[in-house]
Amino acid sequence: MKIGVMGGTFDPIHIGHLLLGQFAYEMFDLDEVWFLPNANPPHKDTDIDRNSLSHRIEMVRIAIDGIPHFKLSMHEADGKDHSYTYQTLEEFKAEYPDNEFYFILGADSLFSIEEWKYFEKIFPNCVILAAMRDDKDVSDMEQQIAYLQEKYQARIQLLAAPLLEISSTTIRNRAARKLSVHYMVPDLVAEYIEENQLYLDRP
Ligand code: ATP
Ligand code: MG
Repeated sequence: MKIGVMGGTFDPIHIGHLLLGQFAYEMFDLDEVWFLPNANPPHKDTDIDRNSLSHRIEMVRIAIDGIPHFKLSMHEADGKDHSYTYQTLEEFKAEYPDNEFYFILGADSLFSIEEWKYFEKIFPNCVILAAMRDDKDVSDMEQQIAYLQEKYQARIQLLAAPLLEISSTTIRNRAARKLSVHYMVPDLVAEYIEENQLYLDRP
């Protein structure tokens, strides 16, 4: 099977994440896309509310409910110290040796991947599907892809998906100011955020 893997903090999951998953599924003929909420994101030590894990998981569950090719994976959500992508992919490869894994990420991640723990160990275990984001244009992406391919023999494909200027940070900030987060997240996720009064205490 061909499996898309989308790791993130998902604080909250939004339509940017879901569109990436859907376009990857269609363009690379994937069988499933697994969404992996990260219990302890190594890069977000200062920013993240550690109590939010159960909400983050629940919002992923709600967002993908009823979409048979989208699955929630709890692999990085089990509360251990930190989850690292290289380790997750090694464990997936060991557990499912016949699967091919496609790691889906946005431009910010593609450009910071050399800061990730043992990032070189990521490349042998997956094809990376990289989507544009923010101010990175096609030629920036192509340059970075060529650089990583050349230097680390990484396998990376450009994932052409609609450019959406949406981030979880924007959504948290809007919710904190009591502005609507509808249309940035699935309706049921927006309702979940309202009902549970999430992010109201964020600066
Ligand atoms: P935050 O603002 O809290 O960092 P985020 O919106 O960046 O949240 P993450 O959970 O950090 O979401 O992202 C998980 C993955 O999804 C990353 O690889 C990121 O690049 C990608 N991603 C998130 N939003 C978008 C978007 N709008 N376009 C392209 N890629 C995205
Ligand atoms: Mg982010």
